[in-house]
Amino acid sequence: MVKASNRTIWMTPLLIVLLLLVTVSGAKAAPMVRVGLTVGGSAVRIRGSGLLIDPNGNVVTEINNSNLNLTAGSGQVWLSDTPYSFLRATPSSSGIDTYLQVNDKPYRGDLIISSSVGGIQVVNELGLEDYLLGVVPQEMSPSWPLEALKAQAVAARTFTLKNMNKHHVDGFDLCDTSHCQVYGGVAAEHEATSIAVGDTAGLVLKYDGDLIDAYYHASSGGRTETAGAAWGQDRPYLTVVDEEVDLADPYAFWEVSFSSEELGERLGRAGYPVGPVERIEISKRTPSGRAASVFVQGVYGTAEIAGTRLRQVLNLRSTLFDIDGQTVGEEAVWQERQQVVALVQGRNNSFTTGVPSGTHVITTGGTVVLKSRTASGDISRGKGKAEIILQGRGYGHGVGMSQWGAKNLAESQKEADKDIFVRILTHYYNGVTIEPY
Ligand SMILES: [Zn+2]
Repeated sequence: MVKASNRTIWMTPLLIVLLLLVTVSGAKAAPMVRVGLTVGGSAVRIRGSGLLIDPNGNVVTEINNSNLNLTAGSGQVWLSDTPYSFLRATPSSSGIDTYLQVNDKPYRGDLIISSSVGGIQVVNELGLEDYLLGVVPQEMSPSWPLEALKAQAVAARTFTLKNMNKHHVDGFDLCDTSHCQVYGGVAAEHEATSIAVGDTAGLVLKYDGDLIDAYYHASSGGRTETAGAAWGQDRPYLTVVDEEVDLADPYAFWEVSFSSEELGERLGRAGYPVGPVERIEISKRTPSGRAASVFVQGVYGTAEIAGTRLRQVLNLRSTLFDIDGQTVGEEAVWQERQQVVALVQGRNNSFTTGVPSGTHVITTGGTVVLKSRTASGDISRGKGKAEIILQGRGYGHGVGMSQWGAKNLAESQKEADKDIFVRILTHYYNGVTIEPY
């Protein structure tokens, strides 16, 4: 009796622990994501096959294939003349024809409709894996290799779980724009990306047992950036990684040019009233070689601008660039890969070093175009507007996985190689493990 009793006492806490573990892992198996949909306006049309339920859980009406119009007003959501604090639309069953539609756009899962400061608010509540079906094809082309799509699916899944509190104050988890992750619902889904999500179901990236910040970007231009250089806070798994540039990558190389006046105007509008730009140079580079800081000298003053800020102001694809022409007093210097190859002296338009014909050279008097690479004194003036040329590489902040790089890696592996997506992810995220969440 005593023994049995002791055993009972001993087993009970264990059973409780086991039950708790089952409950916890059960809850983790199907996390729900609440996505704030971009709807706009103060009214929305809902249709499909399902039920409209009030905050007390009572069925308000059946939803069928005719439009149900809901409006926001006075902090409430209205169905005809009746106000509610919110309404939940839930589909009758899951199937291709039974998705609920918001203004004719179909979504998996439930819809929660309420009133917000901006008008009507529709939140799409659905399982994490269902949500990813509408995300991965928006973030990477479904025509790309499956292993790259799988890497993208794992990165997007990790990003989602790590950012679940991003819109806490708005009453949902993530928005459906690039601010969080672009989500297009059922209309965006594609067979290939759905296979990638299914093949990697539940897998996430962890470092020391914790979810990582799985940042990704379109193209690194050959070298990724550290998180610290981009945003001021380093992560041990987001380091500088070199990679081959894919020649098919449309963002591998880019070039933009501005006249001295145009550049001055754009900087002025952004709060840097330096006037027409006379001189611009990268004063500090990040560990990956991106512009950390740019010095600008204009007719009215000077400014030191962070590379990331300059990227915003000039709408540049990345901060990985060189500035190829600059004016120095009455001399014009042509620089190529940081090496001075020609010096144009004063106003005499003479130069002594060979420069390719057609090269634009900036002088204080305006842009000059070199007609020939050997002639001396043979420089014709442009239209009087100095041109400042930025030659860059890559697209995006450069941190974490490069999507074009992932595609390139997937294509360069042998088909027989197993788990190429794992190699891709561990290439960009240093020292991580790939495991179920
Ligand atoms: Zn967002």
